[in-house]
Amino acid sequence: MKRNKSNRTYPPKDCKNPACDIEPVFVPTWFTQVFCQPQCRWNYHNDQRRIKASTTHIAEKLLRGADKKLGEMLVKVKRGNLAVTDALLAYEGIDTSLSTFQEKNIQTGGQIRWFHCYGLELIPATGRYTIHQRNVK
Ligand SMILES: [Zn+2]
Repeated sequence: MKRNKSNRTYPPKDCKNPACDIEPVFVPTWFTQVFCQPQCRWNYHNDQRRIKASTTHIAEKLLRGADKKLGEMLVKVKRGNLAVTDALLAYEGIDTSLSTFQEKNIQTGGQIRWFHCYGLELIPATGRYTIHQRNVK
């Protein structure tokens, strides 16, 4: 027989897994229990991982797409005229709020938002961006 230390019973509660198909309302056997069964906890965390992975995948696709576009734009713009407008970036479908990381440009003091190989730096008071390229593979 299983010994119940405190001899307490706990009121039924909802399983933390919204997709619970084992015991959506269960009677906890210990105070901090939030899942009806260990299996349910496992299912829940698997689902969370899957959701997170697919979200990350979408963001990654956007970043790669923007990065590719910037590369193409950089080829088109002439040397000494690397500034592109907000409107052009929007037209090309580049979300300027995205970045994999940000870095301070020591020469200008501005922030470069890097996608992968390419990054954008807002030129103050112009609404234009400088496209940067870094050496990565
Ligand atoms: Zn459950």
